[in-house]
Amino acid sequence: MFYERSFINPLHTLIAKPIELHNLILPSSNKIKVQCARLDKIHPTLSGNKIYKLLPFIEQAKKEGKQALLSFGGMHSNHLHALAFAGKELGLPTIGIVRCYENQPESKTLSDIRAMGMHIEKWPPKHYQLKSSTEINKSLQCQFPTALIIPEGGADPRATDGFSWLLQQIHLTLKDQIDYFISSAGTGTTLAGCMRASTAYPSLFNETEFIGIAAVKDKNTIDNRCKAWISMDQAKRLTIIDDYTFGGFAKVKPELARFMLEFEQQNDLLLDPIYTAKMLYAINDLADKGFFKGGSRLLCLHTGGLQGRSSLIEKIQRLAKY
Ligand SMILES: *Cc1c(COP(=O)(O)O)cnc(C)c1O
Repeated sequence: MFYERSFINPLHTLIAKPIELHNLILPSSNKIKVQCARLDKIHPTLSGNKIYKLLPFIEQAKKEGKQALLSFGGMHSNHLHALAFAGKELGLPTIGIVRCYENQPESKTLSDIRAMGMHIEKWPPKHYQLKSSTEINKSLQCQFPTALIIPEGGADPRATDGFSWLLQQIHLTLKDQIDYFISSAGTGTTLAGCMRASTAYPSLFNETEFIGIAAVKDKNTIDNRCKAWISMDQAKRLTIIDDYTFGGFAKVKPELARFMLEFEQQNDLLLDPIYTAKMLYAINDLADKGFFKGGSRLLCLHTGGLQGRSSLIEKIQRLAKY
């Protein structure tokens, strides 16, 4: 299961430290123990889950002698942000296909990734929709013949291998067997990758239930994608819940905004409203409803996503007042 490291990837050294675990205080968590793995603290710029998904692609690019990395994302994409940073560190050119109109005001993420040296192509939403088609892929490969093309969000079975690196770091700090492992799920790649990697640590994860809190109202797609990448035996211990999207991807409601700000204050850490705030809201609500067995131990991932936070926080503060 562990992929061979054919060269010393400088990114591994950047993120080579034990993952900090943080005990969380939640209004409804008096009967359970909730710990959070702080992926938001692995590196000042490179925070979150996206770098793990990129590691295998970077190895592949080196192996195949590719000269650049190309991928896709929205105006606030954490994935493109991590890719731009990785490219800068490795001295590999990066290309970002961004879903936006030519004349649209630029997001902070866009100006940040450009400053890190990423070449940006803006594709209007209608055209962007076709990004995974064979035809578009062929023409992109013609335009950038030496680039390795990485799917949007790193949604690919190859990406799951990168999480063996994360689990190796988590196991250095984690002492107890975990009953529930919880992650926010966009594509589900992170959750599937963690499940696959967890088999190396049976004393911690042998009986663990894995739960994905969907950031998109599309439980079946995430569930099917994860199941294609894990064993049938593991599939029995996987649950995707999509009751906490608050109206859809990147949508926020006053109740979520209030929860997020209160949680941040109480736990002395920051969240993003698109993924991690929804996951923690879900954990708290599920605990309230008795979903978790009494006395159980939960480990959730803080998957980062804080680079886009500054453009969203004003809206969160406004909404929280309703
Ligand atoms: C991308 C992202 C996720 C979702 O990861 P997937 O592997 O696509 O499921 C969760 N949290 C944050 C902060 C992200 O940026």
